[in-house]
Amino acid sequence: MGSGERQAVNGTAQVAPRSAPHHAIGVMGGTFDPIHLGHLRLAEEMAEALDLDQVRFIPAGQPPHRDMPRTSASHRLEMVRRAVAGNPRFTVDAREVEKPAPSYTVDTLTALRAELGPDRPLWLLLGADAFAGLPAWHRWSQLFALAHIVVATRPDADAARPDALAAALQQELSHRQVPAGSATGPAGAVVFQNMTALDISATRIRAILARQGSVRYLLPDAVLDYIHQHQLYPLP
Ligand code: ATP
Repeated sequence: MGSGERQAVNGTAQVAPRSAPHHAIGVMGGTFDPIHLGHLRLAEEMAEALDLDQVRFIPAGQPPHRDMPRTSASHRLEMVRRAVAGNPRFTVDAREVEKPAPSYTVDTLTALRAELGPDRPLWLLLGADAFAGLPAWHRWSQLFALAHIVVATRPDADAARPDALAAALQQELSHRQVPAGSATGPAGAVVFQNMTALDISATRIRAILARQGSVRYLLPDAVLDYIHQHQLYPLP
């Protein structure tokens, strides 16, 4: 309910303030090198399915789980800003980019939880590939105490099949997985939610740009303009 929940008070419909504690917030992390329509569509569809009040895009500074992105954090941040402009539910959080040291998701969620208070439902938005890789994340099992997790899946994706997941993750799922709409409380549930399959990756976009091909309609025009303006992703 993006614009506030209607409640009947003395027979009159009132709009609850957006800061009401039960309003759920989504967290969409990524390298965003560059941000593309797969990321944006994931956030949009999960926000709709879970009735999220807000989705915070948090570009990674120095991602600990993968090679350093070639594109500077300030360019990646600016591309995210341009991509989400115009969507009132989407916001950008620069905290990881602004930190000199590597940021771990568990630390970012701990900070967010301290800011938002113990009761606000917090949802970590993950693609199925990212969820399958969760056991490699720093202090990953502590994530469940901080947030719910929604895994954006496509019906044919192997990564979403529970039997394809690491045993430790299957173990967590056995007592945390609930149907969409049944999660209660501020954290601790895992929901699998289908999304429109968009076979887009930043890796592929960088490869197409490197051979000077067209990436139009794979990412927002405003991001493409920025890429051209700053001559990002040149030939290696
Ligand atoms: P790269 O190709 O550089 O690895 P990427 O396109 O996978 O990048 P990331 O920034 O690594 O993007 O991903 C951030 C999040 O977005 C992850 O949770 C990932 O699963 C998800 N994601 C990325 N692309 C898609 C897509 N096409 N559809 C759904 N989810 C996606």
